[in-house]
Order: sequence, then structure tokens, then C-alpha cells
Amino acid sequence: MGLDIHYQEEFQNRHIAPNEADTEAMLSVIGVDSIEQLIDETLPENIKLKKPLNLPAAKSETEYLTALKQTSLLNKVFKSFIGQGYYDTVTPGVILRNVFENPGWYTQYTPYQAEIAQGRLQALLNFQTMVIDLTGMEIANASLLDEATAAAEGMFMQYSLRKNMAAKKYFVSISVFPQTIDVLKTRANPYGIELVIGDHQNFQLTEEFFGAIVQYPAGNGELFDYADFAAKLHGLNIKLTVAADILALTLLTPPGEWGADIVVGNTQRFGVPMGFGGPHAAYFATKAEYKRNIPGRIIGVTVDSANNYALRMALQTREQHIRRDKATSNICTAQALLAIMASFYAAYHGPKGLKKIALRTHGLAISLAETLNKLGFKQLNTAYFDTIRFDLGDLVQPIHAACLDNEINLSYQGSLVAISFDETSTFADVKTLAKIFARVKAVAADDVSVVDDVETVVPENLKRITKYLQHPIFNSYHSEHEMLRYIKSLEAKDLSLCQSMIPLGSCTMKLNATAEMIPITWSHFGKIHPFAPADQVLGYYSVFNELNKWLSEITGFAAMSFQPNSGAQGEYTGLMVIRAYHQDRGEAHRNVALIPASAHGTNPASAAMAEMKIVVVKSLGNGNIDVDDLKAKAVQYKDNLACLMVTYPSTHGVFEESIVEICDTIHKNGGQVYMDGANMNAQVGLTSPANIGADVCHLNLHKTFCIPHGGGGPGMGPIGVAAHLVPFLPGHTVVDIAHEKSISAVSSAPWGSASILIISHAYIAMMGSKGLTDATKYAILNANYIKARLEKYYPVLYSGANGRCAHEMILDCRSFKAFGIEVTDIAKRLMDYGFHAPTVSFPVSGTLMVEPTESEPKHEMDRFCDAMISIKHEVLAVENGSFNKLDNPLKNAPHTAAVITANDWNHEYTRQVAAFPLKYVAERKFWPSVGRVNDSHGDRSLICACPPLESYLEEIVP
Ligand SMILES: *Cc1c(COP(=O)(O)O)cnc(C)c1O
Repeated sequence: MGLDIHYQEEFQNRHIAPNEADTEAMLSVIGVDSIEQLIDETLPENIKLKKPLNLPAAKSETEYLTALKQTSLLNKVFKSFIGQGYYDTVTPGVILRNVFENPGWYTQYTPYQAEIAQGRLQALLNFQTMVIDLTGMEIANASLLDEATAAAEGMFMQYSLRKNMAAKKYFVSISVFPQTIDVLKTRANPYGIELVIGDHQNFQLTEEFFGAIVQYPAGNGELFDYADFAAKLHGLNIKLTVAADILALTLLTPPGEWGADIVVGNTQRFGVPMGFGGPHAAYFATKAEYKRNIPGRIIGVTVDSANNYALRMALQTREQHIRRDKATSNICTAQALLAIMASFYAAYHGPKGLKKIALRTHGLAISLAETLNKLGFKQLNTAYFDTIRFDLGDLVQPIHAACLDNEINLSYQGSLVAISFDETSTFADVKTLAKIFARVKAVAADDVSVVDDVETVVPENLKRITKYLQHPIFNSYHSEHEMLRYIKSLEAKDLSLCQSMIPLGSCTMKLNATAEMIPITWSHFGKIHPFAPADQVLGYYSVFNELNKWLSEITGFAAMSFQPNSGAQGEYTGLMVIRAYHQDRGEAHRNVALIPASAHGTNPASAAMAEMKIVVVKSLGNGNIDVDDLKAKAVQYKDNLACLMVTYPSTHGVFEESIVEICDTIHKNGGQVYMDGANMNAQVGLTSPANIGADVCHLNLHKTFCIPHGGGGPGMGPIGVAAHLVPFLPGHTVVDIAHEKSISAVSSAPWGSASILIISHAYIAMMGSKGLTDATKYAILNANYIKARLEKYYPVLYSGANGRCAHEMILDCRSFKAFGIEVTDIAKRLMDYGFHAPTVSFPVSGTLMVEPTESEPKHEMDRFCDAMISIKHEVLAVENGSFNKLDNPLKNAPHTAAVITANDWNHEYTRQVAAFPLKYVAERKFWPSVGRVNDSHGDRSLICACPPLESYLEEIVP
């Protein structure tokens, strides 16, 4: 026998967990002979793909990383002085390795289950504190997608709060970053908001304006004192948004002290790589009086069941799900991981360290400015922080060429050049630039005397006086050991995929393979500015082109747009594209969106952002869309029908047989079909959005395509569209990616959070057609296995025609209410068993939605099922009276180590039952760090910043 010298390890065997024996065992529990039989019983015949996906052969992990390394080298890492909202930065090693590259931080879910999420909740509270301090505002949220969308949220909040309902104009300073203006334009359009772009110094405001936005420092580098402008606005009842640079705020009077109502910005330069556009965390800060209007998540302080300090998401935590189209925004996934990194960066450097970094950056800019002034160049700005601007006249060409020769990027606009300094800039850079500039003036290099003794050019009235970051959190962890231990102490409080499966329905918490993550921090991907010249980013283009091709093949669509930074932003983008399509055909009046009652809350929230009129379609008792109702409504609204938004397989985890008929009905009545692709994990390789008849869909790359959830972001929500919609895909003002009829931008960066697209690229490249299709089959197999094991204990709410579920299922817990057990009690009790709860009360209140994904082995699912079955026995014990109705392990869950080890134990069940209810629990016990969190207490007196250590106990203990 010859040796197999061609043996290749297959990545798909790492990604898909069940082995052959497990598969056989699971099939027999389900009661089918083969996976093929199961799929046949699950997927309607009329939507099946007829041939395999046409994708390149799967690469092994080693092959992929070797090839991608070569691709990455096509990107040119030039020194960036481009600025415009993106700055090179140093990610401290301790944060790089222990947060950014650490699955203990990047694999968590959004912290809905607060008791096992106190670590990232604290880090996000630190972020809010940092933002509040630096901006001088009263309240901040826990991140938004990017600066431009944060500005758009600010505009919309101002619009919603306007007193004069007739006011439709919004003032935009000419020196706001162009990408921000572009995104404002998109957001303003459906509401008929008129953007008026002008110079704040000589602009005549009227009562027709409801708001205004300025940039601080201005986009052209100038430092303006906006105090008078703000006062003028307030005199007219107009609110002001300020887009502010987070590093500059360490030196400048914070906007909160001169009249800002809202402050937004990017925290990228606090240690988060540029990554060709993202991901980065934007911030949003405002006045306390607007706390109920703030978009996105806010972390707040409260107490747990033992009256100890505890954190949780406050107020509008689930607001889209409750308020739907009345929600303040459609933000669901934000940028938690990057906000956490920025907060650690601030804690590591502390106020003094940050100030030194800011002063050096500022000083280097002055040094070059004064040197160039001496050489006779004409500087255009006098008061500035990090950005200097010159009119080079005819010399712009030779300087541009010489900079490229020296691998330096500046920002050019005609004969104007802007040079932005950052944390990585050095005095050597100043010298290099000075020489380049001198040479074109024919000054000999030796004769250039670089100014190295400089004084600040921040005007006296803009110099920051107020202190910031005085809290011990920002003044205790400046040595690496202390920071390492702080990071680890928080990490230890969080349950992530490192501990156990996270069976969240609709969220697809699958493997985020290490090989997919490794390239993210390669400098050839990380240190690339989103506005770098096209010929320097061929590596990225190669990744985009392939990913575009592959995802188009997978969805059956003609092309993708990679601009939306989350699923909800994908929805918004898709709807705006549909809107543009109707307008282009002279049917601008089409504005009705049909949305099934069971839709995810972001669907109506996004439709509202596109100013569509929402008409709800009923569900049948079996959970399916009521096709008769849908037909009736499609006909009733046929003159104005814009689209249907439909999730497939349904949010109930079922492949509805009628989907093709549903899509036909919409098309016949002049509408487009928007498919919410959150459940794409049940489709890949078996069917596709185009195949069922959709025109556009978003993909949650952070669900189906392996980007980790990061504890609430980042994500990517690219949209795929059929050929007739391609001309309308979003463009971008700075980078030319426009199609013939592109809508304006929906994100700051042309390809959204470009760097994490690599994760999905890696996944597809290493899985290939068979691997991806097998993943779908195993996702369905695993779900049906759990269903088979649990349906005797928990009624499974909906299933397909043959009794099968798709990749997820809903477990009904509503009947336990009769004896006082709520679904929340089960969710919290699961923590005692070491598990994160499934999705609670979506899409049906009082239920749990379970999705195991293909990446979970049978053993892990068995542990989960054993826990659920054991919990059911506990529920029965409450029902039959062997457990006290009020004092039982469910009601008191989760149990902390402090409670279990306390000298007093006054419960009617044992400590063993409380903390080690099944044998396996002891093997790797995960202790929730706080007891059941009190939500309403925290909402009654909202505290959104780190409370002073000595005072918070008095303040918050009732
Ligand atoms: C996750 C999800 C969304 C929203 O995606 P985000 O990336 O969080 O904005 C929308 N619809 C469904 C069905 C989802 O599961």
C-alpha cells in the first residue's frame, strides 16, 4: 500500500463538529435513515437548488493563509497622513493579544444575559464614562456603527425632537467630513429634510431649521470657536450636533461646555486599526434630558438580587422589538468589541498618557507647519490640532510624486494638500516631509532646518481646563501586568463560546475559526486608510471581488454591496435601493412595506427609516404567514406597494411551503421582495434568496459567515440584489464605487468594516461548495436532534409539513406561567448549568428559540439538552409542590459563588442542587458574577457612567 502523500486536512471537519458516529446516533434519535432524507423532509421541493454551488475547491487552513498572505502583500502600507476621520494608531500589545485576538472577548453575544456578561458591560460602561468625560456631555451610549451614521442618528434625533413641526432644514457646515455629509444626505432624503450646506461663520439661520452639525476640529483642520454659533442656534430653538475628534478633546474645550446638544465621533484612533474603513466604534453623547431618544444601547448601573453593584443594558435594550417602527433607531448590532478596545486603551494610557499622545501629535503638526512656512509654503489654517493645510499651487504634482516615492500618503484636493498627524507619527516623519517639500523648492536637504521647539496653536479660549478620566479605572492600570490582570478579571466574568455553546436562535453563534481571525491583525490589512489610493489596495480589491462573486453565487443574485455595517443597516440600505428603483420608474409613490407580524423588530424600524408605511401581515396559528391575508393586502395596496420584508426560513424556524407563491403575489402587485437573510444558515447550498423569488437580501456575515459577534458588534450586513437593482447600490463621495444610479452612502467607509470581510472570505474559501452545503445540512440535523430530544419536555411551537424544523426551533414555556415560572427563570437557571440562554421571547413571547449551528458536537448538545430536561424536572417539582413556589432554584437563579458559600443558607433546596445540579457541571463550573439583575431599579435612576467607588453603594442600595 502506497502512503497517501496527498493527504490534506479538511477545514470542514474542524468547522462542522459531529463525526460519523455522532451523525448516525443523531439520525436514529430523529428517526430518519440519512441526512438526505432529513433534508428532503425539511426543505420544500420547489425551492431546492438543482446544482451545487459553483465555488473554488476548498483550501486547507495552511493553504488559505499562505495564499492570503500573498494577497495581503498586494496592499501597500504607506505612511498615512490622510486623516479625514481615520488615523493610524498603536494597539497596545496587551490589548491586541488579550482582547482583539482573544475569543474570550470576541465570541460573546450582545449582553442580554447580564449576569454572565458583567465583564463587557463594565468595559462598555468605561467606554461611556470616557465619552462623557471627553465630550463634556451628560450621557453616552455604548457605541454606534461609525461617525457618519452616528451623525445621521443625531440629525434624526434632532428632527424627532423639533418643536416647530414645519422646520425641515438642517444646517451642515461645509467643513464636516464629506463622507458624513454623504450619509446625512441619504438619511435626510426620505423625510424630505433639506440639507443646507454652508459656512457657519456667515450663515443666516432661520426658524425653518431644526438642527445643525459642525465638525470640531473642522474637516479642513481649522479650530473654530463655535460658542457664538451655538448660542445663536439655541436662540432659535435649533439643536446642535458636534462631530468631534476624540483625541483632540484631551486638549480642547469639550463641546458640552460651549453648547453642543449632541456630540458624535469615531473612537478608532484609540488603539483600533484603520482596517481600510473598519470596524471601529463611533460614540454618541447628549444631554440627560434626551435619554429616551438616544439610538443604540446604553449600559446602566443597577443592583443584583443581593443588592450588589451590577450592570445591564438599560432603557431601550430591546426597543425595536417593543416599539418596532416607533423605535428611536434600528440599531441592533453595534461595535461593542471596538468600544471595549478603545476603553481599555484609555484606561491603559490614562488621562496623562492620552494628553501626552495628543500633545506630541499636535506638536509634530506644528513643527512641520512652521518648517514649511519658513520654506515659503502657504498654510491655510492657523489654529489647528493635528491637521495642517497648504495651497501648493503648481508644486502639488511634484510633491505628490515625491511623497509616493517615499511611501507617504497625504490628502490632496486640487492644489490643496492636508497633512494629518497621528499617534504613530514621529519627528523623523516631519524631517522626511520637510525634505520632500524643500526639494521641490530646490532647497538642499542639508539646508532644511526643521523647527523642533514649538508652542501650542490652540487658541486660549479653546484650551481645555476641565479634568477628565479622573475615575480610578482610568488611573490604575498603567503597567502591563495591571492591565493584563484587569482585562482578564473582566473576561472571566463573561460566558463566551470558549465555555459552552450559545444556542441563540436567529443569531447563529457558530465557530469563529482561528484561521479566519488571524489575518485581521496583519498590518497589510490593518494599517490601510479607507481613502488610500486604489493602486495601493489591490489586496483588498482581490478579497472584495472574490467575496462578491462567491456571495452572489450563494444568494443567486447579481451583485453585493459591502457598505452596510450590520444586518439592520443592510435592511435600511436594501429598502433605500428599492425606493430608488421605484422612483426611477416614475413610481415614487410606492411606499407601503408589508411586514409579517413575526418579523424581527429591526424590519419595521428600518422601514420607518426609509419612510415607508408599514402594513402588518397576519400569521396563522401554525406560525406561517397568512397567505390569504398577504394576498388581500397586496391587492389592497397594489397602487402603492413598495415591498414585502420576509425572513426565510421564517423567524419560527420553518421553511414555509408558500414562499414562492408569496413572492409572486408581491411582484404581480408591483412590489419588490426584501428577504431578511439572518436565517441564511439554513439556506446556503440548498436554496437561495434569488431562488425563492426575492429581489434583495442582507446577509449577517456575523451570523452565517463566521464573523464573531464581539459581544454586540462588529458585524457586517452586505446586501445582495438582483440585476435590475444593481444600478442603485450605494456609492461614496470620496471613493468612486458608484453605479449608474447609485444612492448616496449608508456608511462612512466605502466597503463598511472592510477588514472583517476577510473572515467570511476565509470561511467560504476553506469550506468550498461541499463544505458550505454540508454546514447547512448539519445545522438542520443538529437542530432536529435537539428538537427530537426536547420535544417531549417542551412543546416545539412550529414545524414544517413533515414535522421538521429548519436550523432552529421554538420551545414553548408559556404553560409554566400557571405555577409562577416565567421563561426568564429558565434562562437564568441555565446559567447555573453553565449555559447561555437561547433567544428569549422572540419571535413569540414566553418562548425560547434554540439554534445549535453545525459547529456544535453531539456531546455539547447533549449537555445542553440534559440541562433543559433537568430544568423541566425542576419546573415539574414546582408544579407538584416539591419545590416552594417562591423559593426554588429557578426563581433564585443564577446562584453566585458568594451565595453558595455564605454561612447562611436559608433556602428549601440544597446548595448542591443550586450550584451543581448535574454531575457534569462540576467539571467546569462557570460562576455567574452577580445574582439576578434588577432591571427596573436601574431604569428608575439611570446611571450610565462609572459611579465614584465610595459613593455608588450609598447611592444605589435602596
Ligand atoms: C440579527 C437579526 C437582524 C439584525 O441584524 P443586526 O446585525 O443585529 O443589525 C435582523 N433580522 C433578524 C431576523 C435577525 O436575526
